[in-house]
Amino acid sequence: MPATPPLARPSPPLAPGAAPLLALADQCVQCGLCLPHCPTYQLDRSEAESPRGRIAYVRALASGQMAPGPVGDTHLDHCLGCRRCEAACPAGVRYGELLQSARALQATRRPPPARIRAALALLARPRLLAVLVALQRPLAWALPRRWRAGLPPPPRREAGRAAVPAPDGSPVVALFAGCIARPHEAGSRDALSRLLAAAGIASVVPSGQGCCGAAAAHAGDAAGAAKLARANRQALAGHDRVLCLASGCHDTLASSLAGLGRVEDPLVLLDQAGDRLKFRPAPRRVALHLPCTQRSVVRSEAALRRLLARVPGLDLVELPDTGCCGAAGLHQLAEPDRADALRAPLLQALADSGATELLSANIGCRLHLATGTTMVVRHPLDFLAEQLA
Ligand code: SF4
Ligand code: SF4
Repeated sequence: MPATPPLARPSPPLAPGAAPLLALADQCVQCGLCLPHCPTYQLDRSEAESPRGRIAYVRALASGQMAPGPVGDTHLDHCLGCRRCEAACPAGVRYGELLQSARALQATRRPPPARIRAALALLARPRLLAVLVALQRPLAWALPRRWRAGLPPPPRREAGRAAVPAPDGSPVVALFAGCIARPHEAGSRDALSRLLAAAGIASVVPSGQGCCGAAAAHAGDAAGAAKLARANRQALAGHDRVLCLASGCHDTLASSLAGLGRVEDPLVLLDQAGDRLKFRPAPRRVALHLPCTQRSVVRSEAALRRLLARVPGLDLVELPDTGCCGAAGLHQLAEPDRADALRAPLLQALADSGATELLSANIGCRLHLATGTTMVVRHPLDFLAEQLA
């Protein structure tokens, strides 16, 4: 009698909601080409702190071959969501999507820590956030020293530098104001409005808009992110061109407004304005930081370099690409020590640069960098508007 073939072992059942996640993870061919681009791998030199290690963990969880545990979860928590791995991946792994889905699944069994939930609640209420930021300067004396040291400097809005109208009949674009950027980038929106007016473009800041939802999505709060997306769709309906000043918000906002309007980086638009923008000389040394999201997602760094190159006499020092600055959404709040360790080489390069100010196009990076230096840290738009001829 012929031997009975051994029965194939049944595959473990998929965890609920895990099939799409498994499909995303299965795109990874484990080549490891992303590893040198990953800031957390550079920091820890550990496979578990690499994109490939995280994808393997997510695949094992999604396929039911492994139970979730605090060690694997911590490595997932450490991911900055910078998507440098995605930009480097030859297999086209959609790592950003994978991370958000993995964290959403993670949040169903392990909610984010209380301070992250509190921060998300505040980001979803930009009016309250703006009031608190306005109170920061007058009430600084009442704050514990540790809190004071951890807060970014309050925003400056220079007198006499308000937005200006563009000529009648100009095309109109909407400006996205966001959450923490609402108070901290008010001056940058005015600066952008002046630059746009000089380029013959009018701008408006529609009311009712709020946080883009990137921080919520990164923290696994898919429902919170969807609610914010709906509010922005409503507020920005009717505007077919929306300019997003923060590279970290761009992608999430673009997804939210899909089918309604196009989200553009103002630096790209201004670069296309050509000779309509003329700049006065700036004979001084200025440092430039290129955020991960500007490099890997929005990809507007070439436009920014071209714009700055048109400022006569400017001695621009581009800071070396030392990896993510550590801000990474709410990572600076969730993992302050790791965020500081990631920022340290950038601050050293800044100190060595001999520059008198630092430019960076992402609000999160600017606020995080500003708490580590006494140097002025501004959006490139602030600098360019100041140099308008
Ligand atoms: S994510 Fe892409 S680059 Fe990284 S190991 Fe997988 S296939 Fe290779
Ligand atoms: S998103 Fe950034 S930190 Fe996370 S795995 Fe990719 S490169 Fe590393």
